[in-house]
Amino acid sequence: MKNKGRKKKVWEKWLCLDIICIMLILVGFSYKKIEKTTMETENFRKIYQEDNKEKAEETKEEEEGEDMEKEKKKVALTFDDGPHPVYTPQMLDVLKEKGVKATFFLLGEQVEKYPEIVKRMSEEGHLIGNHSYKHEQLSKLSSVQACTQVNRTNELIYSITGEYPEYLRPPFGDWKEHLDCEVNMIEVLWDVDTLDWSSKNKDKIIKKVVTNVEEGDIILMHDSYESTVDAVTEVIDLLQKEGYEFVTVDKLILE
Ligand SMILES: [Zn+2]
Repeated sequence: MKNKGRKKKVWEKWLCLDIICIMLILVGFSYKKIEKTTMETENFRKIYQEDNKEKAEETKEEEEGEDMEKEKKKVALTFDDGPHPVYTPQMLDVLKEKGVKATFFLLGEQVEKYPEIVKRMSEEGHLIGNHSYKHEQLSKLSSVQACTQVNRTNELIYSITGEYPEYLRPPFGDWKEHLDCEVNMIEVLWDVDTLDWSSKNKDKIIKKVVTNVEEGDIILMHDSYESTVDAVTEVIDLLQKEGYEFVTVDKLILE
């Protein structure tokens, strides 16, 4: 009995030691796991914080960029009656050199004669609008005749650029109301008339622009005269110094 009792005590002792060992192992294991989880959480937190910091910096930079954009006063150069075989390519050279995009309202009969100039305009990122086929006063024509003036020019431009013009500048700024064919086109008139076709004088054209221009204005010129090409070269520099940015008319109308 005594031996049996001692054996039982020894056995109990080992059992207790085993349980303690298992518990210690479990506690150690749990501690490691907690430590690992804590480290992972800490790493995740650091990555998250860094990520957030980067995002905040990116947003700040974007906002600052937008503010800079907003500060620039937008203005649009528009040229009617082209393309001209001599002066339109010269105008395109000037615009390319200065990195400026403009809007050209073309006559269908000129488009037919000089398609390669129209292609260049389109490829160089300028906006192409419709100025009728033969520069006739639309209000003096029948609806059918006026529609033909507009549609024929649209088709000619489409056959070269692959895009139908969305903007129409009626000759003489004379808009014929109630024309079904024009419903889908946006009429674009102007704010500053340089009268370049009348003066054909570089300095007078420049003066007309700089003394009259305001933010958001559309400037009317004609890419058919040497004096206009020369004036535009200086007008771009002068207005850029005044904080103006040149855009195509769609950017002014849509904003
Ligand atoms: Zn015109």
